[in-house]
Parts: sequence; structure tokens; C-alpha cells
Amino acid sequence: MKEDVSRPQLLIDITRLPLARIEAGDNGGLRIGAMVSNADLAYDERVAQDYPLLSSAILAGASPQLRNMASTGGNLLQRTRCYYFYDTATACNKREPGSGCPARTGVNRIHAILGASESCVAVHPSDMCVALAALDAVVHVSGPAGERRIAFEQFHQLPGDTPDIDTSLAPDEIITAVELPAQGYARHHSYIKIRDRQSYAFALVSVAAGLDMDGDTIRAASVALGGVAHKPWRDREAEALLVGKPASEQQFQAFADAVLRDAQPLEHNAFKINLARRAIVRALQRALAMESAE
Ligand code: SF4
Repeated sequence: MKEDVSRPQLLIDITRLPLARIEAGDNGGLRIGAMVSNADLAYDERVAQDYPLLSSAILAGASPQLRNMASTGGNLLQRTRCYYFYDTATACNKREPGSGCPARTGVNRIHAILGASESCVAVHPSDMCVALAALDAVVHVSGPAGERRIAFEQFHQLPGDTPDIDTSLAPDEIITAVELPAQGYARHHSYIKIRDRQSYAFALVSVAAGLDMDGDTIRAASVALGGVAHKPWRDREAEALLVGKPASEQQFQAFADAVLRDAQPLEHNAFKINLARRAIVRALQRALAMESAE
């Protein structure tokens, strides 16, 4: 709104709704109210202890001042940082459907390498959402038709022909909470964020990795990527390659190759493919090494 990208006809103040609590959720997890600030969430004792991947990702994003103001629901609804989207003097299919996508042939160093379309090559900017995707969070929403739960992977959308629609939230619904399952990968996790500047910058590539180990064997693996697609990127087919295998650099590299098998670079962002490959391997290695470091 400040950049004149959006001009809503109606604004509703929801700041007094009772949605700022972090409570025990169903199935041994946590239910995070949509109005919980990013700072309160990152430093909550239960989150820091049982979901440190989430704390790390939140603290890698924005600045302390912004994290004090930013809410859980708002973080999910961030729109892209594509320069053209914010420049109202240029065309942009996300801002004005059907007008075109100058990023496809323009300056596209920060844009997508996975899941993009002819209509839009933008990426989702959130750090927190990358961790929530890896943690298999569930989004609770409410509207006139009642309440529903949306699996995190189904919440954000790929651009397709409708890049103006970022999420599966209906226009008359609000997010009320985000629920975390009991499995938080507290023993083996890592969030790696690679950016142009060490602080207060969006990710070129980020990786949230969680491993559940049975001795040296991977019992379960969950890996989500940020900075590479229109939504936090998970590849369950590739994750299945890790299950039941001994954890090794070779396995991690095979996994990274599988995740990036369909990566499509634009003119200025081919470097992201190798960057993502290395970041995935490093994140998995760090997650694995955690216990021995304890
Ligand atoms: Fe707009 Fe998406 Fe193209 Fe950026 S990449 S100019 S947001 S349509």
C-alpha cells in the first residue's frame, strides 16, 4: 500500500482479535495464533526448545524492529520482492494480470529456478515459511463458510497463469493460527540462508533441513528451500531417496541433484542452481553433525 502497488477499498483492523497466544495443539504439537509476533515466536521457550529450526529461520529474517511488529499470519502473506512488482511504472502480471512479466527477460538475478511459469518468475521472500514447510505445519483459516485447515504445502501457490493469486486463502477468510506437529527435528536441524549481505537481506537461497536418525540411518528427512520458487519448495520424491539410507555426503549430493533436476535458470540466476546444491548438502551435514556437537 505504501508503494501504491495495492489500493484496498476496505481495511479491517483485526489487531484486537484474541489470536496472540501460543498454546498446546492437537497431537502433541503447538498452536501459534496468527497475531503472535515473529519476535515472541522465535524466543518462546517451547519453540526454541522443540522447534529450533523455526527460531533460527525467523531470526535469520528482517531486523529486530520488524520482527517485533511482524505477525505470524502476516509473514505467511508476504508478497514477492520482485523489483518490477514494486515499480508501478512497469508491467507486472502479479500486480496487473495480463500486463506482462518484464523480469523474464530483464534483471532476474533474484528470481526463480524452480516451478516458475511464462507469466511469473518471482520467488516467495519469507524465511519463516521455509521452516514451516519443512516442519509440515498446518494453516488454520476462518471465514463465513466456517473454519478449515490447509496443509502448509498447499497454502502457497505456484504462479501458473494466475500469479496475482499467491495463496489458497479465499478473499473472505483470515488466518487464525498455524499448527506445528509434534515432530520438530530438534536433535538434527539446520537453517542456512545465503544472501548478498549478512544482515537484513532476503535469501538468494535458503535451506531448512530436519533429519530423524536411527543410529547412522536416516529414518525421516524433511528439506525445504527458500529463494528459489514462488513458494517454499519441498520435494517429497527426492526426500524418499534419503529414507532408510546411511547419512553420507554422497547421499546428500544425490538428494540435492534430485531436488534440482528440473531447475531452469534465467539469464542472470544460473548461479543459484549450484548455490542451492551446495547449500542443501551443507544444511544436511550441519543437521547431522548437531548431536555430536551437543
Ligand atoms: Fe511481476 Fe512476477 Fe514478473 Fe516479477 S516475476 S515482474 S512479480 S509477473
